[in-house]
Amino acid sequence: MRYDQGIKMDEEGWFSVTPEKIAVRHAVRCGGGVVIDGFTGVGGNAIQFATMCHPVIAIDIDPRKVALAFENAKIYGVEDHIDFIVGDFFQLAPYLKGDVVFLSPPWGGPAYLTQETFTLDLLKPKNGYSLFQVAQSIAPNVIMYLPRNVDLLQVEELSWLSSPPLKVEIEENMLHGRLKSITAYFGDIAFSELSMFEL
Ligand code: ADP
Repeated sequence: MRYDQGIKMDEEGWFSVTPEKIAVRHAVRCGGGVVIDGFTGVGGNAIQFATMCHPVIAIDIDPRKVALAFENAKIYGVEDHIDFIVGDFFQLAPYLKGDVVFLSPPWGGPAYLTQETFTLDLLKPKNGYSLFQVAQSIAPNVIMYLPRNVDLLQVEELSWLSSPPLKVEIEENMLHGRLKSITAYFGDIAFSELSMFEL
């Protein structure tokens, strides 16, 4: 992150932001075409998608977050490649079409780690199943960024929501041998069933 160049964060942003290396990884893995970032926050992922030349539609319900994301995109020089929308992802969904939907939905703050297993019903503002179904109506490929203690069986079950079932790949994001978070890839962008990304 280019914090030293004035990257803008609010207090929540510090917790919610995806480490830049993981965001770069998401962009490398996302295939081609239009990426829709449903919960863009301060823009960490959207910026990396745009940097890799993917046109991005970046959505957040909070106008302050979108303003910060726009300022951050300017620092990276990619603001012209991102369409920023202030709105509710679920309300906008019927009007969106793209190639990849990227979802880094609210995990409910740092409390997610107090659960032994993070079940998909804990995702906000709607459970993971509803969220996934909405994403699928927008694009053939979906990427979900999830807590490290997420119930992996439930994540795999998401792929059964479509017929035939989507391919799914669980990628473990590791730092110094410790699991930090999970990225699930659905659709033709999924390769092996399980993979590891060393940060
Ligand atoms: P975390 O649990 O990761 O802290 P946040 O509550 O910060 O999650 O939410 C992540 C981002 O998603 C925030 O920028 C928030 O404004 C945004 N957000 C929450 N609900 C919606 C929604 N329905 N549509 C679009 N963006 C949303």
